[in-house]
Amino acid sequence: MGLLIRHGEIVTASERFVGDVYCDGGKIAAVGPGLEKRSSSDEVIDAAGAFVFPGGVDPHTHMELPFMGTEASDDFETGTAAAVAGGTTTIIDLACPGRGQSLLEGLELWLKKAEKAVSDYALHMAVTWFGDKTAAEIAECVQRRGITSFKSFMAYKGAIGVDDDELLEIMAATRDAGGLTMLHCEHGDIVASLQKKLISEGKTEPRYHPVSRPSFVEGEATGRATALARVVGQRLYVVHMTCRESLEAVTQARLRGQEVYAETCPQYLLLDDSVYEKPDFEAAAYVMSPPIRPSGHQEALWGGIRAGIFDTVGTDHCPFFQKGQKEMGRADFTKIPNGAAGVENRLQLLYTYGVCAGRMDMNRFVSLVATRPAQIFGLYPRKGSIVPGADADLVVYDPSGEGVVSAATHHHRCDRSIFEGFKVKGKVARTVAGGKVVFADGKLDVRRGAGRFVKRPAR
Ligand SMILES: [Zn+2]
Repeated sequence: MGLLIRHGEIVTASERFVGDVYCDGGKIAAVGPGLEKRSSSDEVIDAAGAFVFPGGVDPHTHMELPFMGTEASDDFETGTAAAVAGGTTTIIDLACPGRGQSLLEGLELWLKKAEKAVSDYALHMAVTWFGDKTAAEIAECVQRRGITSFKSFMAYKGAIGVDDDELLEIMAATRDAGGLTMLHCEHGDIVASLQKKLISEGKTEPRYHPVSRPSFVEGEATGRATALARVVGQRLYVVHMTCRESLEAVTQARLRGQEVYAETCPQYLLLDDSVYEKPDFEAAAYVMSPPIRPSGHQEALWGGIRAGIFDTVGTDHCPFFQKGQKEMGRADFTKIPNGAAGVENRLQLLYTYGVCAGRMDMNRFVSLVATRPAQIFGLYPRKGSIVPGADADLVVYDPSGEGVVSAATHHHRCDRSIFEGFKVKGKVARTVAGGKVVFADGKLDVRRGAGRFVKRPAR
């Protein structure tokens, strides 16, 4: 059975026109005006007055990640279902083997966890240490396992973080394998030292979390990351940038001719550090790393979007319940599991506060949420595009819709939303994944395990 989406305003990263999309066998079969049903059993969606754009590709999620003594509360099933409800049809999650663990063993573990996903997914590989076999395992990932991006952490000293010596080795091995290096940039030693000092002074509440990791600590690490990449001659993708200092570091590297990609997230564009003043431990919901920044940085980030410095907007989706999880850090903010939910809200928030606010046009919106993530991570044109032969992953977005984000109504498995009360414009009327309608009129119609692992080709 085919699917015909008619009369919508089709938007890609470069075009915008009224037309039809015909899907068959899970793929886009035709795009153009005046398309007809090919069989009487074809399903028809009238998208008049709505946008039709490629399903979102979230380049940064952490489903069921074991972290800080607990595990992220969305698993691959609930997390991808929430993604689909928000118009995201592909996530790129992170396989995260621990220090001392083989990358390939870690990969098997994550592929097993991810089997229950309802939407397609790809994986980045975390490299949290460098041993005798690491270089060979990185090469194996690129050549045979469909994994071409490798993430390390300059923060989280003593846990999953790496120091500069290790990072140089990891980057060189990734370069030799033809992979892309991704980095979480914060100066791990400074953070550890500030945390120790604050706790010893009895400053244990969540509001001291941002004090322990100020923006210049991120800016310094971002600059150092580009210096290390320069020495090695490696391509770099900087995840979740939050501040002016990081934007400057990335821009300087690009002016030197380096290939550096930049990602930010809705929470850094839309929230400021006044969230840490919330009473009754509610501030813990906003404890993530890097932290939410003082006001001023948000406009710099929007400026970074306007200037084309940002390639992608991801979410760093990594939810934890307030009850039973965030509470682990009631007596010590350094023990609050870092992270929050967001995979469902990305498109709607960026449409509302980006497109409707005049900060970007629809093409740029599609580029940030779908096309560039697909291109940078080797999923394009199968994902992030509307062309014959691409996967039939599409969003029908009704711009006349309105809503309010709330933990009471979201699909995330989490008892808090960091965007609680945010008004949003437009709504996902339909999500199509692999040619099937998986979300319509507010209702999910997904199947556990329907998602496929998407292998990415070596360059
Ligand atoms: Zn992350």
